[in-house]
Amino acid sequence: MGPSSGYHPAVEEYLETILELEESGIPPMRARIVERLGVSAPAVSETVKRLEREGYLVLDERRCLRLTDTGRRYATSIMRRHRLAERLLVDVLHVPWSEVHEEAGRLEHAISPRLETYLVRLLGDPGTCPHGNPIPGSANFHDDGPLVPLAAVTAGKAAVVRRIDERLESQYERMRALESGGLLPGCQFTVTAVEADAMQLRVDGEDVRVPIPVAVNVYVTAA
Ligand SMILES: [Zn+2]
Repeated sequence: MGPSSGYHPAVEEYLETILELEESGIPPMRARIVERLGVSAPAVSETVKRLEREGYLVLDERRCLRLTDTGRRYATSIMRRHRLAERLLVDVLHVPWSEVHEEAGRLEHAISPRLETYLVRLLGDPGTCPHGNPIPGSANFHDDGPLVPLAAVTAGKAAVVRRIDERLESQYERMRALESGGLLPGCQFTVTAVEADAMQLRVDGEDVRVPIPVAVNVYVTAA
C-alpha cells in the first residue's frame, strides 16, 4: 500500500493529521483526531484499528499514535501534496491566501506521483507552502532558525512572521483577519502592547490586533 495504490481519503486524512499534530508539538492521541477532523470518537477508534492492522501506525503504552516507517512515508507524501497544491492555488490560480487550505485538502488526494513531478517543475520546487510550512522533500527549504510563537514576543520587540500552523488554517475568519492585516510569512512587525486577550502590532504603519488564540499559532523569528 502507498500513495500510488489508489484513492483512500480517510486513510490519507488520518495519517496527515497525525503528522500535523507532531509538527504542532501536540501528542497525537485519538481525541485530537476527533477534534481536528470533526468525526465521532467511535469512528476514529474504528479507523485507527484499521490503520494499525494495515501497518501504518501503532498505539504506544501512553495511548499515543505512532506512525510506522510506512505510515510516516505515506503521511509525508500527503503533506507534501497538500502544500504543493496550496502553492498552485495561490501562485498560479490566485485563490486568496486565506482560502486555499480547504481546496488543497480536496486536491491533495487526486495528485498522482506523475502529476506531482509536473507540479514541482511548474512551481520551481518551492521550499514552503504559502503559509510558511516546509514542503517535505523540497531542495529549496531554507531554515530560518528557531521559531517562537507570536504570543511569546514581548512589547517593544520586532519580529518576522515565518509560519502559520495548520490548525489555524481551517479557521477562515481568523485567516482572513491575518491576510487583511498583512501578517503573511516574511512580514516584519513590532509588538506595541500585550493585553489579556490580544496583542497589538504595528505592521507597515498600521495597527493590527491579533487575538491570543491566533497568536499562539503564528510562529515568528526575531527581526
Ligand atoms: Zn494547509
